[in-house]
Amino acid sequence: MGDCIFCKIAQGEIPTEFLYEDDNVVAFKDLYPQAPIHVLIVPKAHYQNFAQCDDSDVLLSMNKAVCALAKKFDLEDKGYRLIMNTGEDAGQTVMHLHMHLLAGKNLGEQLI
Ligand code: AMP
Ligand code: ZN
Repeated sequence: MGDCIFCKIAQGEIPTEFLYEDDNVVAFKDLYPQAPIHVLIVPKAHYQNFAQCDDSDVLLSMNKAVCALAKKFDLEDKGYRLIMNTGEDAGQTVMHLHMHLLAGKNLGEQLI
């Protein structure tokens, strides 16, 4: 996946501050934030989208990342929105599985 931007970020080829990291995933700020807190949770391995990933370790790490970020940003009571755009109609622009975590205001019906 030579030209995949999220592969490069997740594998440390592009210097990026990780807000969470374990063996399977990293989390970092979205370049164009759509909310006061907008973090992307990204597997280190390349999967095109959620449906393509059947590695239970990776999926569990995504869950752990969400929990850790909710704690880090003090969101456990206030809440947050998780979004995984999958495919063209959803508006997926980076074809490497990622989860958006949006928070920090009342998001209303914001879809990203
Ligand atoms: P999606 O539309 O679900 O594929 O989301 C892709 C997201 O990646 C968008 O919110 C972009 O702002 C974000 N993005 C693209 N390139 C970068 C980058 N180099 N660093 C951080 N976020 C990025
Ligand atoms: Zn990739």
